[in-house]
Amino acid sequence: MPPRKVLIVDDSKLLHRMFEMMLRQYPLVHAYDGREGLVRLGENSDIDLVLLDVNMPHMNGIEVLTAMKADPRFANIPVVLITTEGSEEQTDRGLALGASAYVKKPFRNEELLAVVQRLTAGAPAAT
Ligand SMILES: [Mg+2]
Repeated sequence: MPPRKVLIVDDSKLLHRMFEMMLRQYPLVHAYDGREGLVRLGENSDIDLVLLDVNMPHMNGIEVLTAMKADPRFANIPVVLITTEGSEEQTDRGLALGASAYVKKPFRNEELLAVVQRLTAGAPAAT
């Protein structure tokens, strides 16, 4: 089983550091807004999962998800929406657009790991 590479798209640097601690076994790729997220996807053809913040500058998570689903290179990569209180409408829209799951901030370590393991077939990268 090859390593499962995870792309994190979030404008919060603090959240990137949290993900690094929570997902130690996974090779991570980082992007700090939606536009950069799409660039990183184009550069890394081996990304297996995307953790996608909903509220971001330049392109929000819903716009990124829409672009991914319209692009045959990215359409089948599972997406986990990172949502906040009050963004339920966007969360519903994201799920309707084909997001695989969502986690609501603040989330617990185990909660995030369970979602990531489920969507990567439980196969962390060899270290
Ligand atoms: Mg944000």
